[in-house]
Amino acid sequence: MIRQPIIAVMGHVDHGKTSLLDRIRNSTVAAKEAGGITQHIGASEIPIETINDICGPLLKATNMKITIPGLLFIDTPGHEAFTNLRVRGGSVADIAILVVDITKGFEPQTIEAVEILKQYKTPFIIAANKVDLLTGWHNTKSKSIVEALKQQNSYIASEIDSRIYELIGKLSEFDFNSELFNRVKDFQKELAIVPLSAKTGEGIAELLMVVTGLAQRYLEEKLKIEIKGPGKGSILEKKEIKGLGITIDVILYDGTLHINDTIAFATPDGIGTAKIKALLKPKSVSKNMDSGSGFNYVDFVSAASGVKISCTGLDDAIPGSPVMQVTDSNYSNEIKSEIGEVFKTDNTGIILKADTIGSIDAISKLLKSADENFKISKKEIGKVTKRDIMDAFAMYAKDPTSAVILAFNVGLENDAVDSSDTSGVKIIQSNIIYKLIDDYKLFVEQQQRSSSQKIEDRIVFPASIEVIACFRASHPLIIGISVMNGRIKPGYRLITDQGIPLGKIKGLQNEKTPLQIAKKGDQIALSIEGPTFGRQVKERQMLYVDVTEEDYKLLTKDFSHLINDDERKLLEQIREIKQKARE
Ligand code: GDP
Repeated sequence: MIRQPIIAVMGHVDHGKTSLLDRIRNSTVAAKEAGGITQHIGASEIPIETINDICGPLLKATNMKITIPGLLFIDTPGHEAFTNLRVRGGSVADIAILVVDITKGFEPQTIEAVEILKQYKTPFIIAANKVDLLTGWHNTKSKSIVEALKQQNSYIASEIDSRIYELIGKLSEFDFNSELFNRVKDFQKELAIVPLSAKTGEGIAELLMVVTGLAQRYLEEKLKIEIKGPGKGSILEKKEIKGLGITIDVILYDGTLHINDTIAFATPDGIGTAKIKALLKPKSVSKNMDSGSGFNYVDFVSAASGVKISCTGLDDAIPGSPVMQVTDSNYSNEIKSEIGEVFKTDNTGIILKADTIGSIDAISKLLKSADENFKISKKEIGKVTKRDIMDAFAMYAKDPTSAVILAFNVGLENDAVDSSDTSGVKIIQSNIIYKLIDDYKLFVEQQQRSSSQKIEDRIVFPASIEVIACFRASHPLIIGISVMNGRIKPGYRLITDQGIPLGKIKGLQNEKTPLQIAKKGDQIALSIEGPTFGRQVKERQMLYVDVTEEDYKLLTKDFSHLINDDERKLLEQIREIKQKARE
């Protein structure tokens, strides 16, 4: 038995995701004779007859034997729903439609969606939406973009072409090959781009054709299910319904669920189980579904399907959790391994708090893909607590860039608000995944810059100076010097050309003004406690800055960009002087 592929719609806000879903649903209303549309909980199903009807000769022209029974569209667009519907490290969605406003191109959430789709290895199609906004477009009322284009001015086609090339370019930045759908040679290697308008419906036929063809040709194996087997699904949402209490909306992707079956799901404390009291389907597309009366009660549901499950004991069920019919003791291991993978943590690293399992999973994956070195030591669903802040604070000594809490779509508990003022733990809050990750990247960069600034401030740089005059013979010795090479600062230790230590520079002055630094070419006065003029220090003598082995290493490796070639040579010379003195 082959089930319907599950389709998710993603893309940047306002690019037309909702409009596209509405347009697909409305097109099917017109094709009612053919079977119309079946409303599920959280999803809409378009039977294959309806798709045939909308696509007309297009599907037949593919010469494909279509065996899939239809398409199941997830009603909620956006990547939150996509990532929450998770199974075995991926998404329950078999195919995604990435909606891009053709007049705007890629925007931040487009990028985020592409990154998520790449991580989840989900095949996708690009709907280049809003072609009707191109100057000079006139609505042909055709469902086919190819037909519509035939009736437009020729410059429209070249306008679309150039915008499609921009999309192809953008997608290649993410290592995706893509092409206009009717130029694609191999749908497994190239993403298809379908220009369309959710407003006029032009292009809907090609979009449905490409989705159907893709699913039929490449996903047939994945869509084979054991219809009689145990039901398996994913919790899309948890909702309280008048007369029913807490219910879960589940997308079932395998097997069958019956009333009185026991199901297992994840809770914050481990695995929860409950016995199914009622299985509910919407009465009709438009019916109010806020109370129990808006539903049809059914005895069983089979995949692929969207269903509301009512039973006692669902209070702790976590959205994004797998749901499985309990047939033997194995269910708990299966769910545990599913969830365990999401909640796997590192020994050190930041703390991640989020509202759903899906967001924990997506953020973890995207953080790792942003930088392999980003580590997460704790992942939890729920608000930021005082405990989290203490845990983050404990990381501070090891690595200040880890004393961070990323809070996605969750707030702070009251006691946490108070303690965050004092501990210096960085809390980054957002309800946009890419923003959270970008803010964290920025924070890490700032931290690294300021800590490398601290190191830079501490490093002793090489310098050679020549003694040109004596102003005071001792206590302290004050001499006029010329900086021959490099730079000197108060606090630097000097040695002679024989490697004999002279002590620390007390101060630098230029015409009575104290200096913090003197550079090559400067002629200034220098004071130093310890040596006496005429004894350790003589006129015309060369003195050098005593660069320690540790600073030598820093300046030849990680901080080599801070010195020039002359200073590099001098560094080696000073090292030799010191080595000789030791021998
Ligand atoms: P979403 O945030 O991605 O779900 O975007 P919506 O579907 O809410 O659309 C955002 C705005 O774009 C709305 O005002 C829509 O009417 C408009 N819109 C969506 N698709 C099209 C289209 O194909 N053509 C035109 N002209 N406007 C569109």
